Amino acid sequence: MLGVAIGDLRSRPVGFQREIELRVSAEDLPDLGLADDLEVQGQATNLGEEGIKVDLRVMTTLRRACARCLRDVELPVETDAEETYHESGDAPLITMDTIDLGPIIHEAVILAEPMRALCKPDCRGLCPRCGKDLNEGPCGCTDDDQDPRLAPLAKLLPPREE
Ligand SMILES: [Zn+2]
Ligand SMILES: [Zn+2]
Repeated sequence: MLGVAIGDLRSRPVGFQREIELRVSAEDLPDLGLADDLEVQGQATNLGEEGIKVDLRVMTTLRRACARCLRDVELPVETDAEETYHESGDAPLITMDTIDLGPIIHEAVILAEPMRALCKPDCRGLCPRCGKDLNEGPCGCTDDDQDPRLAPLAKLLPPREE
C-alpha cells in the first residue's frame, strides 16, 4: 500500500490539480529488487463525476543479475504510470480521501524492466564447462578436450562464433 492523501481535491473544481511527490525506500518495495529509492512525481486531477486521474513519472534503479555472467547489474528505469480512481463502482477506489499508488507503480516498473539484463553489451559470460568468468580472461578449456560423451553431438552443432 502506497497511500497518498488527496485531501479536499474532490471538493475542488473539475480540472483542479494537486502535485504528487513521493520517495519510497527500496526496503519498502522488496519484491521489485531495487538498488535505490523509488521516486514518484506527478499530479492528481479532479475529474468530477469521473473520479481522480493520476499521472505519474516513476524513477528508480533495478538490481538484476547479468544474464550471461550473473554479476550484479544496476538498471536505471524511468517510466510513466496513469490511473483513474473512483468514488464507488469500478476499482481502484478512493478510500477515506486516500488513493493507493502501489499497484500502478508496481505495474509500471515491471513493464519498464528490460527483457534481458547485461552488465555490458559484449559480456563474454561464464564458460559453460568450468564456470570461469570469461570477462577476466580465457579459462583454458579448449574445443579439443570436449567431453567424449558429447563428441557425437558436437558434429551436429554449428561452428562456434569467434
Ligand atoms: Zn555479464
Ligand atoms: Zn572453461
